[in-house]
Amino acid sequence: MKTLLPTSTAGSLPKPSWLAEPETLWSPWKLSNRELAEGKQDALRLTLQEQQLAGVDIVSDGEQTRQHFVTTFIEHLNGVDFEHRKTVNIRNRYEASVPTVVGPVSRSKSVFVEDAKFLRQQTSKPIKWALPGPMTMIDTLYDDHYKSREKLAWEFASILNEEAKELEAAGVDIIQFDEPAFNVFFDDVNDWGIAALERATEGLKCQTAVHICYGYGIKANTDWKKTLGVEWRQYEAVFPKLQQSSIDIISLECHNSHVPIELLELIRGKKVMVGAIDVASHVIETPEEVADTLRKALVHVDAENLYPCTNCGMAPLPRHIANAKLTALNAGAALVRNELLSR
Ligand SMILES: [Zn+2]
Repeated sequence: MKTLLPTSTAGSLPKPSWLAEPETLWSPWKLSNRELAEGKQDALRLTLQEQQLAGVDIVSDGEQTRQHFVTTFIEHLNGVDFEHRKTVNIRNRYEASVPTVVGPVSRSKSVFVEDAKFLRQQTSKPIKWALPGPMTMIDTLYDDHYKSREKLAWEFASILNEEAKELEAAGVDIIQFDEPAFNVFFDDVNDWGIAALERATEGLKCQTAVHICYGYGIKANTDWKKTLGVEWRQYEAVFPKLQQSSIDIISLECHNSHVPIELLELIRGKKVMVGAIDVASHVIETPEEVADTLRKALVHVDAENLYPCTNCGMAPLPRHIANAKLTALNAGAALVRNELLSR
């Protein structure tokens, strides 16, 4: 990436209201069959246009073709029964009815590669594609077959690796794995979570990223955040081992969070996607607020490694707010970029 402080988003962006119910997670599609397939592509074109107008440097599909960042991938796998659901406690935070693993898991064909090829055709900008991470996948399922979180994670890691290699061949520049579970299960992360993630990226020549956040701005997450105290030190438990890992980029939450900024020192040397946009609030950041977050991060992240970003996905936000936040992100990044270039 030649641009200094290249901007991007953490993942999902709002869908148009003709495609899915707005401001809702797991929102059902409003179209079907061929109309749905065309609608998803049209939405992808729109989100790309909105990102480009806002000045986003590393663009994405805004997850327009998926209902949810984890379940849509799992729906395409063998060995998972979506009829046979169990209620589990996701990340020890909220109850959800989830599918059951009933046999060996496998992927019979690629899940997102056609969508990635379509996005590649539409833009010459670098593109980032998000996949769920192995640990977050197992946390969104009931396992009635492997009876071992670790074993299932390794199976998912090799499936993700097949998908990632095809995405790379389709022209994706950065493959990101979403691992909000890394902020909860610290012992497992250090014992096998990071190793499973590295397995998912094995042999890739494109850039690899891991996104670790405090979740979407939904009530279960904002209630959980209230229990975390004045300083959020969760990253401290996993950063030392991530710093040693082969993952190129770490995407994390900063603005309006209680993460002590000096924890970024623990991953010095890595590229860091710094969350400078709060996705849990409808208040639009000013460019100066964005710049302030980036300047604080620059104390602990070398300028050439700093990638201004959003704290998490923006799917649950109203579209006009998400767009205004994207514009603010780019204006704030421009302020700091100019400061760095005029030094
Ligand atoms: Zn997130």
